[in-house]
Amino acid sequence: MFPPVPPIGLEYIAGALISAGNKAEILDLCFSENIFKEIDNAIDLFKPDITGITVRNIDSALFLNNEFFLNEIRDIVKHIKENCGLKVIIGGAGTISCPKDILEYLDSDFIISGPAEGSINYVLEQINSNTNNKIFYGTCTSGLKINRIISGINYNKYLEKGGIAGFETHKGCSSSCCYCIEANTKVFFKEISDVINEIKELINIGCSHFHLCDSEFNESLEYCLDFCNALKQENLNIKWTAYMKPDNFNKKLFQLMKETGAYLITLTVDTYKKCDMYWSDIERFLFSAKSTGIKVAVDLLTGFPYEKEQEIKQHLENIRRPLPESININTYIRLYKNTRISKQIISDKNLHKYLIYYSNDENLIKPVFYNHINLEQLSQIVEFDPIFRIDGADKGVNYNRLENIAT
Ligand code: SF4
Repeated sequence: MFPPVPPIGLEYIAGALISAGNKAEILDLCFSENIFKEIDNAIDLFKPDITGITVRNIDSALFLNNEFFLNEIRDIVKHIKENCGLKVIIGGAGTISCPKDILEYLDSDFIISGPAEGSINYVLEQINSNTNNKIFYGTCTSGLKINRIISGINYNKYLEKGGIAGFETHKGCSSSCCYCIEANTKVFFKEISDVINEIKELINIGCSHFHLCDSEFNESLEYCLDFCNALKQENLNIKWTAYMKPDNFNKKLFQLMKETGAYLITLTVDTYKKCDMYWSDIERFLFSAKSTGIKVAVDLLTGFPYEKEQEIKQHLENIRRPLPESININTYIRLYKNTRISKQIISDKNLHKYLIYYSNDENLIKPVFYNHINLEQLSQIVEFDPIFRIDGADKGVNYNRLENIAT
């Protein structure tokens, strides 16, 4: 909600359903003041055979001001099952860490883990044939054509409240960050012409400011260059911002991004067992992007097991040197089931004294954090240097905080 984010995933699911001859309607409860009444009204009017709910995140993933979302979603599932007599499918990016546990926690009928637009119609067929299966693994194919349905979302409301439209070029991530539930997930690229058509459709309804919804834009340098070249040819008057990783980039890419309206990159960085090359890539990334006029904010996760304060100081110095716009630091590591860092920490009893909210509950659905550099220590490390910002201390995202620098 700070800012509100349009549920792009539902637009793809609705598109996939409608293309296969089904009827589908999106109920967006983002601004609802009485969600149960709105659900009842929508079900009365549309009379669906089945419902689906997207879980974008289990929680806000930050220790400070953490918000856990599943209890409210569980109430909605209960309401739909008990009051409306309908079955519920759960999907969304938040489900990929532990689909079985989330299915049980929410008491939903089915769950689709992973991208569902390529699988939803198959899942419905299975449900129709009374499958015993409750857990499905979503998949896609590169170039899969999905007509995204943007008419189900009231974009004006999002724009009024500081939200911006989103688009995506691919699913998945081939990187292997030890703390991330998206690590090593299968990558599916969209047809560039389809992505550009989506942007044009959103421009037609009044959007001109976009956030790329890819976990990180630069999964493939070749694809990124082709995408930016195609976007440049369209000469659309937009501005956009993206998450990127310190990999698969060159100066040409940043030039093209700038020419197509990119003004801000959030660079994802962590300090877990990195070699010197990683730090020089970050430096190169920052200097190259900044030389084109694109601003870069760094999101930094640090304070991994056995990392010493002195090492962290050195890493901060490495990142600070090329002067990014800001460095958002987080030393509270949210543990999710099956990530490498969770396995390492849970199996090392010496580290358990640094766990917060841990109760031997192995599914890690409710927030559990690892922390050995607390806020006081972190404040001392950053020495009140204004370039640093402690993640989660206030609500908001980089493009809101840094929007005044947008060109
Ligand atoms: S690069 Fe980003 S999305 Fe990919 S594994 Fe790392 S943190 Fe996750």
